[in-house]
Amino acid sequence: MSESLNLYRLQQLDTNIDRIETRLGEIERILNDNQRIQKATKALKNAEEIAKKARIELRQIEDKVEAQRLKRRTSEASLFSGKIKNPKELQDLQMETEALKRYIAQLEDEQLEAMITHETAEKAEKQAIKALEQAKGTTAEENAEMLGERNKLQDDLERLIREKEAVLQSTQPESLTLYKKIRKAKHGTAVAAVTDGGCSVCGQALTPADLQSIRASNKLVFCPSCGRILFAG
Ligand SMILES: [Zn+2]
Repeated sequence: MSESLNLYRLQQLDTNIDRIETRLGEIERILNDNQRIQKATKALKNAEEIAKKARIELRQIEDKVEAQRLKRRTSEASLFSGKIKNPKELQDLQMETEALKRYIAQLEDEQLEAMITHETAEKAEKQAIKALEQAKGTTAEENAEMLGERNKLQDDLERLIREKEAVLQSTQPESLTLYKKIRKAKHGTAVAAVTDGGCSVCGQALTPADLQSIRASNKLVFCPSCGRILFAG
């Protein structure tokens, strides 16, 4: 096997290994990140607090209305009891009853508003519960898919690493050092295939003499433009 073929094969394996490792890192991050659930939980907590406040306010206004109604019934009872004979006293009581009537009407308006607010808050709370359930479902589904993908990638990775071991065995140490150096400097790609008479990575056109020496010689030939090791299959 020629040295450039070895390095080309090594490059293909490393490119795949890099890609898998990047994806595995992403999957790990996604699996550990339950932002969607956290967000929905926070929204539910907020909705619960609003609903709780609305419930308390509604109960308070209901109690208030009830207390004023009782007061009114008591006033009316004494007004119509016939026990109060003093006209001034009767007039005062009548006025008090009228005032209570108006106050109760005002409180009833407030009660109606509180009921609407309460109903809206309860609806929002129910929706938030549903949204949280959905978020949990979606995340579980995604995670199941992710776990499947992760298993497959881990198998692929193991296979590629075994293949890489084999290629490394038949590669000269000096070539390997060079390969590693170029790979580090050139964003992971040290070897470029020759396609259409040029470097497939940077597009540099090669002279017929270059092409011949790439094909014929067993020593490494470098792209005159990007410096990568050239390989012609
Ligand atoms: Zn090039």
